[in-house]
Amino acid sequence: MTSAHLVCHDCQLTLHLGAIKYAADEKRIGFSHGKYSPSELAALIEAFIAVHLEHDVETYAEQDFDTQDWSRYTALRPMPTMPTEIAPVDTMNIGPIVVRIEPHDGPSNDP
Ligand SMILES: [Zn+2]
Repeated sequence: MTSAHLVCHDCQLTLHLGAIKYAADEKRIGFSHGKYSPSELAALIEAFIAVHLEHDVETYAEQDFDTQDWSRYTALRPMPTMPTEIAPVDTMNIGPIVVRIEPHDGPSNDP
């Protein structure tokens, strides 16, 4: 599965969009995430674009994303689970989706 990312270079943020969804003819038709529906992911993208509308925003497929150095950027990832006291994390809401806020260690940080 190939994942996709939105990046705002002005704010130095990367946003993980989930896996790219393909139609039977292999045309790219959307994104999928274990916890969020396609319409929730669409609302996430819409809310991110609204905030960063006049900024330098790019999309990346995983193979291109993984070759870049994101060490000065902050990663935003949709949360698969709610944070707990045992595993506290920084989060924010983008549209209907809670994202985890974490630093990038480097180009190979993304699992
Ligand atoms: Zn921005």
